[in-house]
Amino acid sequence: MSESPAKPAPFGAVSAPGKSFLIGEYAVLEGHTAVVTAVDVRAHAHSPRPQHDERPSPDSPFVAAAVELVSGWLRGHDYEVPAPEALPVITTVGFTAGNRKLGLGSSAAVTAATVGWYLASAGLDVSSPEIREIALSIARAAHSMAQEGRGSGADVATAVLGGTVRFSREGIEPITTPSWLAIGFFDAGAPARTGSLLESLEAGAAGSREAYDAAIAGIGAASQRFQAALDPALAMDDAFAAIQDACRRHNEGLRQLQDIASAHILTARIETIIGAAEWAGLAAKPSGAGGGDLVVVFARSGAALDRLAVELYHQHRVALVRKLETNAEGLRAEPRPPVNSRIKGLFKRSIDARREALALATGVPLARLADADAGALAPEAADHMIENVIGVMSMPMGIGTNFTLNGRDYLVPMCVEEASVVAAASNAAKMIRAGGGFAGFSDPPWMIAQVQLVRDDRSPSAEIVARIEGARDRLLELADEAHPRLVERGGGARDIEVRNLDVDNIVVHVLVDCRDAMGANLLNTVAETLAPELAQISGWRPVLRILSNLADRRASHVSVRVPAHMLASKQLDGGDVAQRIEEASRFAELDPYRATTHNKGIMNGVDAVVIATGNDWRAMEASAHAYAVRGGRYGPLATWRVERDADDAIAALRGKLSIPTAVGVVGGATRSHPTARMALEILGNPSGVELGLIMAAAGLASNLAALRALATEGIQRGHMTLHARAVAMAAGARGAEVEALARRLVDVGEIKPERAQALLGELREGGR
Ligand code: NAD
Repeated sequence: MSESPAKPAPFGAVSAPGKSFLIGEYAVLEGHTAVVTAVDVRAHAHSPRPQHDERPSPDSPFVAAAVELVSGWLRGHDYEVPAPEALPVITTVGFTAGNRKLGLGSSAAVTAATVGWYLASAGLDVSSPEIREIALSIARAAHSMAQEGRGSGADVATAVLGGTVRFSREGIEPITTPSWLAIGFFDAGAPARTGSLLESLEAGAAGSREAYDAAIAGIGAASQRFQAALDPALAMDDAFAAIQDACRRHNEGLRQLQDIASAHILTARIETIIGAAEWAGLAAKPSGAGGGDLVVVFARSGAALDRLAVELYHQHRVALVRKLETNAEGLRAEPRPPVNSRIKGLFKRSIDARREALALATGVPLARLADADAGALAPEAADHMIENVIGVMSMPMGIGTNFTLNGRDYLVPMCVEEASVVAAASNAAKMIRAGGGFAGFSDPPWMIAQVQLVRDDRSPSAEIVARIEGARDRLLELADEAHPRLVERGGGARDIEVRNLDVDNIVVHVLVDCRDAMGANLLNTVAETLAPELAQISGWRPVLRILSNLADRRASHVSVRVPAHMLASKQLDGGDVAQRIEEASRFAELDPYRATTHNKGIMNGVDAVVIATGNDWRAMEASAHAYAVRGGRYGPLATWRVERDADDAIAALRGKLSIPTAVGVVGGATRSHPTARMALEILGNPSGVELGLIMAAAGLASNLAALRALATEGIQRGHMTLHARAVAMAAGARGAEVEALARRLVDVGEIKPERAQALLGELREGGR
C-alpha cells in the first residue's frame, strides 16, 4: 500500500516505561537469568505541537531504526504508513535528576514508544497482547540495530510488556512480585561509565578465569534464590529472608568481581547504603553495573523503606530517588502528550490566549479555567469556609513557565499580589532548565503531634521518659486506631519521641505519616487520642495536645546546576554573575539581617504556589523560618556556589534549597476552593510530596532571579517598571493607558501617585 499523507492520530501519544534491574547483573551476560522491572518513568511519542516549537527527533539512532523497521512491517502487512514528514516528537519524562541520567533505560523506552506510535497510527491497539508481541519483536530488532547488536533485550521487553520479567539468553518470561514487597531506589551518586567497568572486568577475567567463573556462578545462584523467593506460596517472613540472602550473595559475587577488575563496583557510598539497609533489617544491592548510580532496596513495607530513607539522608546525605513505582504498565496510548512547560511568549498574549495555550499544554479543559475568574469562589461557598463572611477578596493568578523537575515539566499556578514574582521565577526556571532542571527529593510526609505532660506527682522525669518509651508499640497502635483509613492509604504512626523540657515539663512527639494531607486535623486527633493513655502511663497531667508546625521531618530538597553562560547580563559575563551570586549567598550565610530578606525572596515563589493550591500559608511561613534557625542562628534556606572546570574557569553555578513543606492535596481548602482544585489539575494532580517539591522549585527559582538582579543591575530597575504599572492603575489608568503611563513614569524616574495623576491627565489630553 502506498504512503498516505499525514492524518491526525486518534490518540495524543504512545508511551513506554523505563526499566531497572532487580538482580542478576553481570551474570546475565554469561547466560544466567536476571530480573528486570518496568519503572514508571516514560518515553512518549507524539505529533509536534506548534505552540511549543517542537521538532521530531529523527537524529536519534533508536528513533531512526524504529521508524525504518516499523514502517517496513506496516507496509508488508498492508497498513497505511504515516508520511515521512509525520515523524513523531519523543519526550522523555522522569529519566533524569537535574542534568544526570539515572540509567533507567531511556533508549529502549524511546524505541518502544516510537514503534508503538506507528502501530497506533495504523489503528492498532498497542496495549493488546497480540500487538505488544509484534511491537516487541520490531522494537528488539530496532534497538539491537541502533546499538550494533549489543544489549540483552530485557529493557526493550519491559518497555513494551511492562511489569517484571525474568530473562536470559534463552528468552523472556513475565513474573510477578509479591504485593507486600516494597522496592525503593537510593542514589549512590554519579556512576562510573558502564563501558569502562566492563572493560576492566574483561581484562581482569582474562588473567583469573577461575575466580571470575566462581563469582559469576555466585551471582547466578543469588538470582535464582531471589526468583524462588517470589513464589506466592511462601510466607512473607520466609520469602523476605530468602531475598536478604540473595542480596548478600549477589553483593559477595560483586566484591569478587571488583577484586578481579581492580575497579570500584561497590563504591563507599554503595557500601554505606547496603550497610544501613542490612542494619535496619532490609536487603540492598546495586541496581545495574554499580560504580555509583542506583541501589535497589527491598523491604517488607513502605514504612520500613521510609525509615531507612530518613536515616540515610540525615546521617549520610544519601537520598531515596523519588518514588519510582515498579511493575509499571507497558506500551499504552495516552490521551495527550506530556506537559511541555516551555511556552514561548506567554507574557505577550491576552488572558484568553494564555488560557487556550494552558489548556492545550496541560489537557485541562478550557471551560475549567473559568475557575480562575474573579467570581469563582461564590460568597455562599465562602460563607461555609470561615465566619462572618461579607464577601471574597480576589488575587491575581499567573502561570510560572519553564519548570522542569526530576525530568518532568510543570506549568506552575502562582497567586501573588506582588509584581515581577511570576516573571522572575519563569525567567530563572529557564536558566535552570538549560542545566537539566531541578533535581529534587523529599523526606516522607511525616508530621509531629505534641502532647505536653506537666508534673502532677513526685516521680522523677527520667523515670517517666523511660516508662513512655517502654510503651512505644502500644502508643503507636493506639495512634493508628485513631485513623484506620490513613493506615489503609499507607500512612500512619511511625515513631514516638520523648523530650524532657525541664523538671516539670515533658513533651511526647508522635511522628505520623499523613500521606497527601497537610495533616493538622489528623495530627490533632492523634494527640488527643493518646493523651489519656499517656496520663495513665506517666501519672503526669496532659495539657496541650496539638501538632507542631515545625515540620522539620517533612522537608523538600531541590538542587540545580546552571551553566554559567546562562547567567550573563548586558554588562557582565556569566562567570562574573555566578561569582557575585556566590558572594551574595555568603552574605546571607553570615548575616541574619540579609538572610531574612534572602528568605523573603524564596517565599515569594513558595507562597505563591501555596496560596494557588489552597494550602495553609501561615503554617508554611512559620515552619520555614523556624527551620531557617535550626542551626542556632537564622540562616538562608538556599545557598549558592560556583563550580570551576579543570582550567579553574567558572563553569556553572550550583544552588540548593531545603524547606519544610507541610502541604496537602486533600483536606483544608485544597478541595473546597474551586480555583485551588483547578490549580492542582494544572499541575497534573500531583501527590502531596510532589507538590512540596514544586513549591521548593518555585522558591529556588525566585531566589536565583532575585540574587541575579541584585548582583547585576540592582533590583530597582526591573522592579520599578512593574511597580509603575501598579501606580498607573491606582491613578486610574485603564487598558492600554496602563502600559503607556507606566513607561512614562519610568522615563521621568519618579514613580509617585501625584506624578502619575498629572501624567495620566497629559496622556488623555494628548490622546484626544
Ligand atoms: P483534613 O482535616 O481535611 O484531613 C484530611 C482528610 O483527608 C482526612 O480525613 C483523610 O482521611 C482524608 N484523605 C483522603 N485521601 C487522603 C490521602 N491520600 N492522604 C491523606 N489523607 C487523605 O485536613 P488536614 O490536612 O488534617 O488539616 C489541614 C487543615 O487544618 C488546614 O486547613 C489547616 O489550615 C488547618 N489547621 C492548621 C493548624 C495548624 O497548622 N496549627 C491547626 C488546626 C487546623
